Parts: sequence; structure tokens; C-alpha cells
Amino acid sequence: SQLPADNVSENYPRQVQGACFSWVSPKQMKAPSLVSYSLEAAALLDLDEDDCLSEQFLNTFSGNEQLDGMQPYATCYGGHQFGNWAGQLGDGRAINLGEIVNKKGERWALQLKGAGPTPYSRTADGLAVLRSSIREFLCSEAMFHLGVPTTRALSLASTGEHVMRDVMYNGNPATEPGAVVCRLAPSFTRFGHFQYYAQQNTELLKQFVDYTLETDFPHLLEKDSVPSKQIYLKWFEEVCRLTCDMVIEWVRVGFVHGVMNTDNMSILGLTIDYGPYGWLESYDPNWTPNTTDATHHRYAFAQQAKIAHWNLYQLANAIYPLIEEAEPLEKALNEYAERYGQQWLLMMSKKLGFSQLEEETDSELVKQLLSFFSLHETDMTIFFRRLADIQTTSDDFNVATAIEHLKPAFYIDELELQAKEAITEWLVRYVKRCEQEPQNAVQRRALMNSVNPKYVLRNYLAQLAIDKSEKGDHSMVNELLEVLRHPYDEQPDKEHLNQKRPDWAKHKVGCSM
Ligand code: AMP
Ligand code: MG
Ligand code: MG
Repeated sequence: SQLPADNVSENYPRQVQGACFSWVSPKQMKAPSLVSYSLEAAALLDLDEDDCLSEQFLNTFSGNEQLDGMQPYATCYGGHQFGNWAGQLGDGRAINLGEIVNKKGERWALQLKGAGPTPYSRTADGLAVLRSSIREFLCSEAMFHLGVPTTRALSLASTGEHVMRDVMYNGNPATEPGAVVCRLAPSFTRFGHFQYYAQQNTELLKQFVDYTLETDFPHLLEKDSVPSKQIYLKWFEEVCRLTCDMVIEWVRVGFVHGVMNTDNMSILGLTIDYGPYGWLESYDPNWTPNTTDATHHRYAFAQQAKIAHWNLYQLANAIYPLIEEAEPLEKALNEYAERYGQQWLLMMSKKLGFSQLEEETDSELVKQLLSFFSLHETDMTIFFRRLADIQTTSDDFNVATAIEHLKPAFYIDELELQAKEAITEWLVRYVKRCEQEPQNAVQRRALMNSVNPKYVLRNYLAQLAIDKSEKGDHSMVNELLEVLRHPYDEQPDKEHLNQKRPDWAKHKVGCSM
């Protein structure tokens, strides 16, 4: 493209002015070895199993070799971190290999995470450890199979390098095994790209916005027309919708991103940058997996919609010079909030198995249930999945049987009286509501099981896979990948991967960088 490049092409850290990217060379890794790969992601590049098991695949996606036409680069962006403007950030440990247009005509950008320093690495090393790479690899693919908009993960390779991290063992800084993930997305553009260019100059901003429209939002451009204020605005409205729908999906499956800084917000509404993310264990709206956010809970589960809105507000500020009218931008932001409210309720009502929304009744039912969850530790994933099996015709409904069936979802062995009363009252209302449904029990169950996953990447399962992998046994990474390819299916021999967090794992989810 015609985007301006940095005029230095070396990897040392620096401030980059007036450019969108810098040419870089990935680090040569000592002893790359393939830990895992995703066949579905490979198919996006028209690659099959044999291709993935080739030496060239490993060398390419660990950064040691570039294929013809690959000219690696790192991009320049900024962002708000925890609410404060952080200045230049950029691809500090991500290196783009280029883009591939597949047989279907889809364009996929390839990016290595952890392939060595770039001009944007600041004081850090540009590397990634096996632990965080396993988390990124597995979660990307798990989210895809769950139907959540996300960047993809093609491959996970260990590098044979020892990476220094500030985890201390016996008072000494410890090294950890290094790894590289190759991720794929139609685009890795973040809100922070626009924010940073806007701070540089409006011309650079405009160049990048026009480039984004052409490559990522071509449907918004009429043939041969020059982008206008109207088109910029339409684009912003679309980004608001995409972002809204992404957060709804997070909430549906119980995902907490953990670090929703504006540099971690994809312009395509894809989940990006799997760092200190986590999955709800007992349903707790105030829970964050990010240990650095433990005081303020800025990025807690139930804050995510609000934070996404705040981030969109920052994006609106950045692109304002191209639109020069606050009112339509504000309108789009208000529509985000409205859309979120509507789509959230619709999503929650589907989780309960309702095919047609009854706004008042359903919103009451949802509220009452979530308040029960908050008061009485409950695993949301297991609860909704088991709720689908309950007999909901008044002749067959038996409250004791129902509660017994839901029991594996509760963290307390025996519900106390008050909890029993609360869930009884709720179940009675729920059954009444189900009876008004035009669907039969089989249809209701099918609807519920299509939106309520049986298998998610439970925090402790990811940790068990990591512990094994660090000892050289990657079998559990591959076992989890396999199970998470079909998260909505019953997999009778994998029931042990659908259990609530065991006691030993409580408070053990660390933030993984
Ligand atoms: P994050 O909080 O992971 O989104 O990262 C924020 C910024 O720090 C981004 O610019 C990253 O590229 C950069 N960064 C994070 N970890 C590293 C690392 N190990 N080496 C270089 N840059 C990093
Ligand atoms: Mg990031
Ligand atoms: Mg990160």
C-alpha cells in the first residue's frame, strides 16, 4: 500500500514519527519445535495437515525463515491504558509477515507474536513465553468455535530460547521457555492506530482511515468515489455495532478480556490480544482475572460493555477531525448503548431457551437469575447447559428433581434454605414462561444447547495444560484444542473437562503476559 513507512529499518527501540509501520527482522530462534497447530486456521491459508507438519511451516511460523513475498514489519500505534493516554505503543512483540489471499478470495494477515524486538518494544524483549502463548493459542481457537468474533491462531511453536520474566523463584529471576504464536485476522488494526495518527497529523490519520475503508470496509465505499464525511460516519457507526456485538458474545460465554485498553480493541470488532483474560468460574460480575486491576476492577466482567463504550468514545475523538461534527458521533455512541441493552436481553433470553422475546417477563427472569448467581456461587456454563434438560411442562415439572439436576453447577454442596427458596421461586416462574413458548421441549433444548456451550477454556484447565507443556508434554494442549473444536456438542468421554473449578485452583489464575 501507499502508507508511509518509517525510514529506518532496524529493530532498536525508538519513537517513530509520521509513519504507520517499520520494516523489521524476526529474531533467529535457537531450536523451534511445533507444539500445536489449528487445522481450521490452516485451511484459511489453503494449507493441509501435511503442510503444517513440514519443516518449512515450522521455520516460517517461528520467524526463522520468510517465504517469497514476505517482508516483515511492525506497526505503530498508541492507546489509552487503564484510562490514561500512554503515547506510542505499537507492535512491541508482534511482527507482521504479510497478507495472503486464499482460494475463496479472502485476505488474511499473518502476524507472529513473540518473534523478537521491534522499534516498539520499549524496554521489553519482544518475546513471549510458552505459558502465555498456550493461552493465546487455545483461547483464540476456542472463541472461534464458540462463535465469538476473534483473531485466529494458526500455530504454536516453542523456540528453544530461555526468556527472562519477573517471576521469582527463591529470590532469583526465573527464565521460562519461549514460544511464538502465528495469528491470523483480516486485519490487526486497533483503535490505538487511529488515536496515534490523529495525534501526529490529520493527513496521516486520513491516509490510514482511507486505507482501512478500502481494505477492511470496502462495502462502505461506492465505486470510484472519494470518502466523504458521510462515509466516515457510517464507518464509525459500523465499528460501534461490531464492538457491541463482540462484547455481547463475551458475556454470553462468560469471557473476561482483562485488559480492554484502546490498543487492544480491534477495528473489526474481533477479540484481540489474549493476555490476562479469564473465564468466569462462579458467576461474579465484579471479577477480573487481571491481577494488576484487582483494586479498581476497571475491566471486570460486567464493566466490559461500558468500557467498550468508553473506548469507542476515544475513537470518536480521534477521527473527529475527519467529520468535524460532534452530534452524529454522539448519536452513534448513544445507539451503541441502546443496541447493547436490546441485544443483551435477546441473547440472555435465548440462553433461557425462549424463541420469542417477552420483554418484561424475560427481563425480570434474567435479572432474578443473575441475582441468584451473584448471591449463591454458581457456574453459569454448567447451569445453563443443565437447565436445558429440565422438564418444563407443569405435569412433568418437579422442583426437587430440577434442583438436584442443577446441583453440579453450585459451588456449595447443599443449598441452604434461602437459596433453595430463591431457586424454587425462579424455576416455577421459568416453567410458566416456557409453557407460553410455541416451541416444544426438544426445540427449546436445541436452541439452548446452540447458545450455551458445554465446553469452555476453564482457567484451571489451561493452567494444567501449561504445567504439562512446560515439562515437555504437550498432550493436554492438543486434547483441549480437540475438545474445544466442538464446544456445543456432548462429548461423553470428556465430561471431566466440564467440571467447575476444583478447590485447589481457587485464586490461582494468574495474569499471563
Ligand atoms: P498489552 O498490555 O499486552 O496489550 O501490551 C501493551 C504494549 O506493550 C504493546 O505495545 C505491546 O506490544 C507491548 N509489549 C507487551 N509485552 C511485550 C514484550 N515482552 N516485549 C515488547 N513489547 C511488549
Ligand atoms: Mg496489546
Ligand atoms: Mg498482550
